[in-house]
Parts: sequence; structure tokens; C-alpha cells
Amino acid sequence: MRLDGKVAVITGAASGIGRGTAEVFAEHGARLVLVDLDAEGLAGLVGQLKAGGAEVVGISGDVSHKATAVEAVGAALRQYGRIDVVFNNAGVMYSGAFHELGDDLWDRVLDVNLRGTYLFCREAIPHMLEQGRGSIINMSSVMATLTEPGYEAYTTSKAGIIGLTKAIAVSYAERGIRCNCVCPGWVDTPLNRRLAEELGGMDRLNALIKQQQPNGRMLSTREVANAVLFLASDESSGVTGAAIYVDGGASSA
Ligand code: NAD
Repeated sequence: MRLDGKVAVITGAASGIGRGTAEVFAEHGARLVLVDLDAEGLAGLVGQLKAGGAEVVGISGDVSHKATAVEAVGAALRQYGRIDVVFNNAGVMYSGAFHELGDDLWDRVLDVNLRGTYLFCREAIPHMLEQGRGSIINMSSVMATLTEPGYEAYTTSKAGIIGLTKAIAVSYAERGIRCNCVCPGWVDTPLNRRLAEELGGMDRLNALIKQQQPNGRMLSTREVANAVLFLASDESSGVTGAAIYVDGGASSA
């Protein structure tokens, strides 16, 4: 039980990596506040985790709205009296020709990925300062540095998350708050299954993965969740400002 009694907020928890992390955190004794736009998916996960004996609160809302961050952090304090961990995982991906990208799409990707991360950090840190401790984990991507044509908005948002993570880490290290990020490569989630459909099938996606990721396969959500678990737990007490690549070797190739 590596998170015994710790209170963790996870955004984008209804699907993919967020869902896998909520399951791993619950197995390790965390008390959870789970946030997602998808109210139905969230309710299903909350029911599943409660049936397994976990303490869980679900908040349905958009992470790019300040009210959602206020509600989620407030729920952690009301329900459990503290907030130990925030995993800013919710994110959206868009690809397409940059010169044809509408302002709305640019804003949406930056609002969900970067502003959402900012809002939850901003809301949680005053309480972590009162406690004298806290661990924030932000979701970046290998695409923060290894980009491809058509991913300007996504890459900008994920590179911004690395910058925000490092800046928060140095500002608060002396006062007990750690801030790190994870940079996954290809992970088997609904996001990539939607991408496979756009590319014309799973075989095409798998061929692309073999070219880009030395381990030659998609990672499981648990493989990413285990890195987040390490950063959330006291085992990583000396780690802050880090960007941990969980990418099957992609960033080294
Ligand atoms: P996913 O689409 O399976 O899950 C994302 C979840 O976030 C969904 O439940 C969705 O409803 C929720 N969400 C989206 N916008 C939201 C908003 N505005 N407010 C609240 N919730 C919102 O995606 P995933 O693959 O699990 O991705 C999770 C994170 O990991 C994203 O930030 C993504 O950029 C990042 N990432 C994924 C991969 C990958 O290969 N899948 C690789 C690197 C980074």
C-alpha cells in the first residue's frame, strides 16, 4: 500500500491512462477525487472502485473551467480534510495542417491541456503549503520534444506543461511541494484507438509504432500509472522538476 490514506485528485479519470491510474491508486490505498467531462463514464468507474472498497468522489466538469478545479479541490478538503496528490491527466489531441487550424481548435487544445493543468495546480498549492507537503504530477508527452507535422497545438501544450512543471518545482521545493511530469510514448487507450481509425486501421498504427518506439508495441495504461504511482508516493521524495519518459525508448532512438 504505497499511498495508504493519501488523498489524490485525478483529472481525465474516466478513460485511458487516468482510469488506469485511478485503479492503481485505489489498489494502493489512496482516497480519491476523480474528475472528468464524461459524467457517465465517471459514474461507472466510481461505482466499480467503491464496490472494491475504495473511498471515491466523482466530479463531472471541464478542467479548463476554474469552477471545476475549485469544486474538485473543495471536495477533497470537505470529504477527506486534505489534498496530498494531484495528477493533471485530462487532455485532448488534435492534428491537422497548422495553416488551416481554426482559432477555436488552438484555444481548445491549449485550454484543456495547459490551462486545465495550471488551474488545478493553482487551486491545490495553497492547501499543500498549509500542509507543508504535496505531490503534483502533470501529464506531458514524448511529443513535447519529438513532434510530427500537424501537431503544433498539442506539442505546444505539452512542452508548456514541462515548463510549468519545472517552474513550480523550483518555486515550492523548499516548502515541501514536489512537481513532476510524465512523458508517455504510445499508450493503448481510446485516444489512440480513435487515431487508428483515422489512419485506416490498427495495422497501420502498429506499423507506425514499430518505426517510432524501440519496444515495438503500445504501452499499457498500467505501465504509465506505475510511474505516476512512484511520483505520487514518498518513495520519490527526492524527485522534483523531473520529466519522466515512459516511452519504450522512443525519446532515445
Ligand atoms: P483518453 O481520451 O482515453 O482519456 C482522456 C480523458 O480525459 C477522457 O475520459 C476525457 O473525457 C477526459 N477529458 C478530456 N477533456 C476533458 C476536459 N476538458 N475536462 C475534463 N476531462 C476531460 O486519453 P488518454 O490516451 O488516456 O490520454 C490521457 C492523457 O495522456 C492526455 O493528456 C494525453 O495527451 C496524454 N498522453 C497520451 C498518450 C497516449 O499514447 N495515449 C501519450 C502521451 C500522452
